[in-house]
Amino acid sequence: MTAEPLTTTYTIEAEDLWRIYRTGTREVQALRGVSLRVAGGRFIALKGRSGSGKTTLLNCLGGLDRPDRGTVHIFGRNLAEMDEKDLTRWRRKEVGFIFQSFGLLPTLSAYENIELMLRIAEASRKEKKERTKELLDLVGLGKWMHHRPYELSGGQQQRVAIARALANRPKLILADEPTGELDSTTAREILTLFRTIVEREKLTVLMSSHDPLVDGYVDEILQMKDGLIISA
Ligand code: ADP
Ligand code: MG
Repeated sequence: MTAEPLTTTYTIEAEDLWRIYRTGTREVQALRGVSLRVAGGRFIALKGRSGSGKTTLLNCLGGLDRPDRGTVHIFGRNLAEMDEKDLTRWRRKEVGFIFQSFGLLPTLSAYENIELMLRIAEASRKEKKERTKELLDLVGLGKWMHHRPYELSGGQQQRVAIARALANRPKLILADEPTGELDSTTAREILTLFRTIVEREKLTVLMSSHDPLVDGYVDEILQMKDGLIISA
């Protein structure tokens, strides 16, 4: 009798993803059959020129967009089986998003930007306070917690955004060109921070970038071209 094959639950399992944007009579095939598997606890770069489909892929993996064809499983859950309401709730808990332009709320302090995520998740008063402080320390911004985004440098703002993405302890972080607006010294600091987070919080970071700088920091590079992953 042969043994059943071992089934592994991947952090990300995507199969034959297609995403076609239609505007009038024009059609752009942004994803043309992307498949990938990502195991837990890794820092992975998704590289490729502008227009190669990186943002579209990240959005489909994080449930911000739906592929026209193909399936996405995150920790074994099929995103296609969730309606918009389920997906919103799922995203809040399971995935942290980080964007190039930081996306912080301008009228809130660093502390409040992070705490907001915990408030949305209905954490207790104690948990909100402790977790926010812990995250500010993790990203090295304890002293800056009462500052608003415009009083912080780009690198500091991205640190707040990283802390915010980690607030609800997701096991997957999707980061879309997180160093795209930073000088190379600051970019290196942010990449080092991602490395630390992957080790310390045992999570997976999938980060898009077209910067050669990232190569030295990641465990693996996925190369995209014209809507396909051409090397892994
Ligand atoms: P990248 O992030 O690698 O720059 P994108 O995923 O943003 O690539 O884009 C992939 C392709 O899809 C590009 O040709 C882009 O112009 C097109 N595209 C992206 N978003 C849209 C949209 N909302 N409507 C139409 N075309 C789009
Ligand atoms: Mg992009």
